[in-house]
Amino acid sequence: MSNSPASLTSPPPTTNMRPLDLIRKKRDGGELSSDEIGFLVRSYTDDEIPDYQMAAWLMAVLIRGMSGPELGALTGAMLHSGEVLDLSDLPGAKVDKHSTGGVGDKTSLIIAPVVAAAGVIVPMISGRGLGHTGGTLDKLQSIPGFNINLSLIEFRRVLKSCGCGLIGQTAEIAPADKKLYALRDVTATVESPNLICASIMSKKLAEGIDGLVLDVKTGSGAFMKTEKDSVHLAELMVETGERMGKKVVALITDMDQPLGLKVGNALEVEECIEVMNGDGPADLRQVSVELAAWMLYLAGRTPSVDAGRQVADKLIRDRSALKKLREIVVQQGGDPRAIDDPRLLPQAQNRTPMLSPASGFVEAIQCEQVGIASLVLGGGREKKEDTIDPAVGLALHKKVGDPIQKGEPFCTIHYNSAARLGSAQSLLQQAYRIAEKPPVVRRPLIHRVISRKGAQV
Ligand code: URA
Repeated sequence: MSNSPASLTSPPPTTNMRPLDLIRKKRDGGELSSDEIGFLVRSYTDDEIPDYQMAAWLMAVLIRGMSGPELGALTGAMLHSGEVLDLSDLPGAKVDKHSTGGVGDKTSLIIAPVVAAAGVIVPMISGRGLGHTGGTLDKLQSIPGFNINLSLIEFRRVLKSCGCGLIGQTAEIAPADKKLYALRDVTATVESPNLICASIMSKKLAEGIDGLVLDVKTGSGAFMKTEKDSVHLAELMVETGERMGKKVVALITDMDQPLGLKVGNALEVEECIEVMNGDGPADLRQVSVELAAWMLYLAGRTPSVDAGRQVADKLIRDRSALKKLREIVVQQGGDPRAIDDPRLLPQAQNRTPMLSPASGFVEAIQCEQVGIASLVLGGGREKKEDTIDPAVGLALHKKVGDPIQKGEPFCTIHYNSAARLGSAQSLLQQAYRIAEKPPVVRRPLIHRVISRKGAQV
């Protein structure tokens, strides 16, 4: 992030563009050309532009916004700042899914094996937990031995062997994003929808995919709390992906309460195995099937989304998806016995129930608070360098609309540190709202689908 001494001695750029002019142009509401944006991204990645100038430009983008062509140019420049995987030697379409993040949002662990079991290549490069939300990499690392740090050569070998691999971002993938994200994090510029879009899409398109399904969360546990903001981000990402020649669709899905009943890394892996064994909570299964169906459709594996639903459903019911997950675990060095018997996943030493203070119905669950409760138990990171406790988390017994009696448990806390328990308990006490009557309005699980043709409810 810093302006290294080497950059002070590097040769002057062979262009007459000056960062100062480009900052001023954006500050005054102008539109930058693709060459100008390319120059900024390239020079910043190469340490030729200092942090303070790039930060000023990012802030101008946050305030002024970007045109579609500018956003396409930014995404393209960030994408080509590193390696773009060429998977053309692997037969068939390659598709992936990206979620904007939520609480109990564990669908990747179900979807990736389902779609791979249908014969479609899924090269999934995922992230860690961010803020109160969980991350696929942290969940995968609760499987003993599972290696998320494969080189791109090893990743390709895994994809060839079983059609799906799940790894973290390598140094070769979109290095501009790595540097820009760190700068945004400390300059109050993370929230710009344009910058979020370029960040996510540059990493995903570097996977060498043909299609992408975006799961844009909305509600109290999402980064985008309102449907309007979620739709805006979804539209930007769909338009940008299509501008780059990819098939992209976004589903706006509900995150006003946790997805499924388990929150916490090993607990979430266990719940995914339950779903792939034909059990598990209906909401998790429904969202997973829906996202997988769209991936199968975009890959051309099924003639319609409805046919995709049927294929996904069958691959779960006949245990093909679970078999595929086991294969992926073996290929990535994990212990497959933990898939056969989830009791071999890390288990917390202690459990304690949270009891309802009143009888009635669960009227609402403040979803972000639930995510923070899991984080403070050790299931997430408060600082970048924190280590995760894979065993801790929450098992929810009640969701919105469920009846409850005074003294009945609405959730069980799985914990290892008594010192961390108190704050998790008070967060959860505040998170559950109990009322005399059930809520009148029930939110749908899938709010809408955004495709090139525009928003459809
Ligand atoms: N996730 C990303 O990868 N980038 C952002 O900017 C926000 C969320």
